[in-house]
Amino acid sequence: MPRTVLHWFRRDLRLTDNTALQHAAQAADQVIPVCILSNWKQKHGWTGPNRQQFLCGCLESLSKNLTTLGSRLILRSGSADAELERLIRETRAEAVYFNRDYDIFGRAMEAKIHALCARLGIECHSYQDSVLHEPETVLTGGGQPYRVYTPYSKNWLNLPKTAPQGRITSLGPPADAAISSLPPPTLAHWNLPPCTAEIPTPGERAARDRLKLFIESGILNGYGPQRNIPAGQTTSLLSQDLRFGLLSIREIYQRCMACTTAAQPSVQTYVKELAWREFYVAILWHYPHVFEQEFAPDWQGLPWPGSAADFQRWATGTTGFPIVDAGMRQLLQTGLMHNRLRMITAMFLTKDLHCDWRLGEAFFMQQLVDGDNASNNGGWQWSAGTGADAAPYFRIQNPWLQSVRFDPEGTYIKQWVPELKHVPAELLHKPPAPGLPLAKGYPLPMVDHHTERDRCLAIFAKHKAERV
Ligand SMILES: Cc1cc2nc3c(=O)[nH]c(=O)nc-3n(C[C@H](O)[C@H](O)[C@H](O)COP(=O)(O)OP(=O)(O)OC[C@H]3O[C@@H](n4cnc5c(N)ncnc54)[C@H](O)[C@@H]3O)c2cc1C
Repeated sequence: MPRTVLHWFRRDLRLTDNTALQHAAQAADQVIPVCILSNWKQKHGWTGPNRQQFLCGCLESLSKNLTTLGSRLILRSGSADAELERLIRETRAEAVYFNRDYDIFGRAMEAKIHALCARLGIECHSYQDSVLHEPETVLTGGGQPYRVYTPYSKNWLNLPKTAPQGRITSLGPPADAAISSLPPPTLAHWNLPPCTAEIPTPGERAARDRLKLFIESGILNGYGPQRNIPAGQTTSLLSQDLRFGLLSIREIYQRCMACTTAAQPSVQTYVKELAWREFYVAILWHYPHVFEQEFAPDWQGLPWPGSAADFQRWATGTTGFPIVDAGMRQLLQTGLMHNRLRMITAMFLTKDLHCDWRLGEAFFMQQLVDGDNASNNGGWQWSAGTGADAAPYFRIQNPWLQSVRFDPEGTYIKQWVPELKHVPAELLHKPPAPGLPLAKGYPLPMVDHHTERDRCLAIFAKHKAERV
């Protein structure tokens, strides 16, 4: 009897170096590739059109790539456990293969799939794929999870790394024509409005092109000194590709490590950023309360008295702080934002406007093409001063100083805030004279940074004192 198995695509929308897919292909005569779309149609506090549009494009491209292999992607919609059960029965599959997802929702669903397979008496195989090291394998000498990045990263960097495998060449015959599949989705599937942002090109091919550009055009070589400069391309721009698994982390790591000796200092800096990604995966895994509460017990219950009107000005990029507005407008127009700007805008919302970091976290998730629960939560809690290894609460970045330090010529600001195009650069990095806007139609700074800094320190200090 030929052996049929299912490969359940999740955050691994690629055919190259896909661990579970490789194992499935080796173990079976026929691998039926499956992807299950969520079917929520209400209001989505954490989702918007940008990331879903990117997903639609990735699924279309995956579907084409599978057809080229002589296979057929089966797309269903609903709850993964119910849909997989249906498919197992329809195809008489003897096993389900998938790559592990360490996200709160991903791990909960995995437990259900294991239980489902046990109930149906079929095999269930899950694999490490999206990270170089799983949360349970990077622990302190005493076997405890880390709470601080530096010792975590030292351990992480020293662990042996798995080499990538090649591209899959065959999955056996396609699923029987009687096995139904939805067409690749559009935003209408989730009742989402059209995507108006200029998001990156989706799909495995486009991601491979981005990786090639990053490594071969010299951007990686300059990554160490340049990565904090938001104007132009100074970073890899691969976060959405890692988020959806269009590239394997093993391949990115191996290709960077294979660069010339001269590039190695920058490669080391880059690899440490990849370790931040896995640090936050581990934080969410070991401390799932961060999803709703402050990581640090000291800061749980901290008040955030910021107003809805102030939040709106931040969200629309009209705060009157050019660097903050540039970051927010880049986000609104592209579904992405440079890391330095994510820190500046997040700190501004929490420390200057005193708005709850959870509001900013959700807004970013609605907009970001690379929106990822672990990294986004980690970044927000870091910026709010409440997270794992966060900056101490009293170290509050001054947006004017950040601006002059990282965008001295105002190149980035002028790209995203066209009203300021003709304003001399030196005027962009300090509050304008009272009542005199920097340009027609551009607002005055909505707050005074020094006043709000003091207010923020007072809120934190009061909370701390009351907890003792
Ligand atoms: C408030 C805030 C929210 C964030 N939300 C997200 C998010 O939802 N999704 C996301 O992928 N990243 C998030 N980040 C991290 C970081 O900003 C992005 O990963 C980075 O800007 C993506 O651009 P890049 O691929 O060019 O990064 P590069 O500088 O080229 O870095 C390479 C890769 O390392 C990882 N990485 C880099 N910096 C970080 C970091 N600080 N934390 C975790 N991983 C990192 C990413 O996977 C990135 O693609 C957030 C940071 C902050 C401060």
